[in-house]
Amino acid sequence: MRILVVEDEPKVARFLTRGLEEEFYAVDVAHDGEAGLYLAEINHYDLIVLDWMLPKKDGLQVLQELRQRGSQTLVLLLTARDAVKDRIRGLDCGADDYLTKPFVFEELLARIRALLRRGHSGGTNLLRVADLTLDLVTHQVTRNGTAIVLTPKEYALLEYFLRNTGKIITKTQISEHVWDEHLDPFSNVIEVYVHYLRDKVDRGFARPLIHTVRGVGYLLKEEPTP
Ligand code: CA
Repeated sequence: MRILVVEDEPKVARFLTRGLEEEFYAVDVAHDGEAGLYLAEINHYDLIVLDWMLPKKDGLQVLQELRQRGSQTLVLLLTARDAVKDRIRGLDCGADDYLTKPFVFEELLARIRALLRRGHSGGTNLLRVADLTLDLVTHQVTRNGTAIVLTPKEYALLEYFLRNTGKIITKTQISEHVWDEHLDPFSNVIEVYVHYLRDKVDRGFARPLIHTVRGVGYLLKEEPTP
């Protein structure tokens, strides 16, 4: 899943980026409100971690503009303000959740997982199709009870597949939700990673789960495609 971090303090931005990347999220960073708004316009983020106090446009303005433009991207607002009326204001402006600085990183991760569960995995941190499971907290992946060791990118790709089980996924969607803005759109890196992932997830099993939809993309599902 792809996250935009909008945070002006370089140290905090680096800390957030590194921490989120270690959890296999694809992360882009903006250091002021205008840049954040711009990136949110041109890319498809699954979630935005938005600081309240920002140069050029503050977090509330960014949030209001996003919502006015019809964006429904999940937004987690970060702020040093702890007053109840500020929290209410943030939520009323369209924030999906709210965290007060300083915070424990584990809590940020848990809130992000909770927000991302809303649209997807029905209230659980375990994603599953057939005998394949992925645990969003421990990052353990198993098939038929046996652990599968994945690289960070393979894991992120599988997570995206599992969040979209039964739906056809295009390469464009994969590039938008699994890679950050540094992906070269002309490279074949997505095909390469799907190949790696298949090798680990499907090879040796009678029923493959990752299917190619010729000319369109991929489909993760239990039954072979007709
Ligand atoms: Ca700030």
